[in-house]
Amino acid sequence: MIPFEYLRAGDPAEAVAAVAGRPGAAFLGGGTNLVDHMKLGVARPDLLVDVSRLPLDRVEETGSGLRIGAAVRNSDLAAHPLVRERYPVLARALLSGASGQLRNAATTAGNLLQRTRCPYFQDVTTPCNKRDPGSGCSAIGGYTRYHAILGASEHCVAVHPSDMAVAMLALDAVVIVLGPAGERALPLADLHRLPGDTPQRDTVLEHGELITAVELPDLPFARRSAYRKVRDRVSYSFALVSVAACLDLDGGAVRDVRLALGGVAHKPWRAALAEEALLGATVTEEAFRRAAEAELAAARPLHGNEFKVPMVRNAIVATLRDLAEEGR
Ligand SMILES: Cc1cc2nc3c(=O)[nH]c(=O)nc-3n(C[C@H](O)[C@H](O)[C@H](O)COP(=O)(O)OP(=O)(O)OC[C@H]3O[C@@H](n4cnc5c(N)ncnc54)[C@H](O)[C@@H]3O)c2cc1C
Ligand code: SF4
Repeated sequence: MIPFEYLRAGDPAEAVAAVAGRPGAAFLGGGTNLVDHMKLGVARPDLLVDVSRLPLDRVEETGSGLRIGAAVRNSDLAAHPLVRERYPVLARALLSGASGQLRNAATTAGNLLQRTRCPYFQDVTTPCNKRDPGSGCSAIGGYTRYHAILGASEHCVAVHPSDMAVAMLALDAVVIVLGPAGERALPLADLHRLPGDTPQRDTVLEHGELITAVELPDLPFARRSAYRKVRDRVSYSFALVSVAACLDLDGGAVRDVRLALGGVAHKPWRAALAEEALLGATVTEEAFRRAAEAELAAARPLHGNEFKVPMVRNAIVATLRDLAEEGR
């Protein structure tokens, strides 16, 4: 690890000024991702600005939904009574991630901004366009079990690893960002990027922009929601694929639906085509399968992860079927 300075910010504005004014500076949340990367030589910040103890650690009702402070720990968010009652998909996604100890440390903002688990990204002895732009992509033609089937490019085929972000995407979350020029609200759907020819950029955030909160709009039918994660081990393992779903039924038909996928793309993936196919459809496994296939028509699996296409389809069908049965 190279030497670095440490600053505990007193308030969000001080944190923003400290990072924005220094190209090598980085915010520090729970450190469960960033500190690992510093040990591996993947990240080399010369200043860590600790934002984990800022007064951004509350979950509050806003009148139109829930505001989650950026420093709220994953464990606290998963256990929050309003989250469990109104957004079970989020509680379940959080609890499916990492381990109890990691969730106690990990923050809401840090979880959203954790970087890919592509093994080549974490191995500084291998070429990787995300870590070292222009060096090549070792995953293409290499080990691809955990890699993308949607939205990838010839420069990077990595996936975003967060479970929480997939649930928040299904819930139409909005990210509140404070930068040197002031505050802005960014739909979570616009936060993460596809790799294109600049895979080194995971998000649209500029250097020095601090996430201060995530807002969840009221979505009454999210009380009937679920998160299904398919993985190699039953715990302590990242998703091969995952599905976040909220389902609103009108008798035997779909009145409304939210569907997002994890483990399939460089960003949490909103399954808009599947949602469109489901609106008004009669609730049958066949309708769920057709909707999944509409989304997956654009899938381009790699040699080594072809299994993900049927896996996503089956996970969507099973998740929606379980939710539909819950409502009967
Ligand atoms: C063994 C292991 C297993 C795991 N399994 C899973 C899993 O199954 N599912 C899953 O979803 N995750 C998993 N994780 C990842 C874990 O969820 C993340 O490491 C964690 O959420 C990151 O949060 P943090 O607060 O520690 O972030 P940090 O490591 O502190 O920061 C991560 C990034 O966010 C930036 N950042 C932090 N706060 C802010 C802010 N307020 N504004 C702007 N930028 C900020 C940092 O600069 C850094 O770039 C696992 C991690 C480990 C080590
Ligand atoms: S998939 Fe992306 S992160 Fe992985 S080696 Fe290729 S460029 Fe790097």
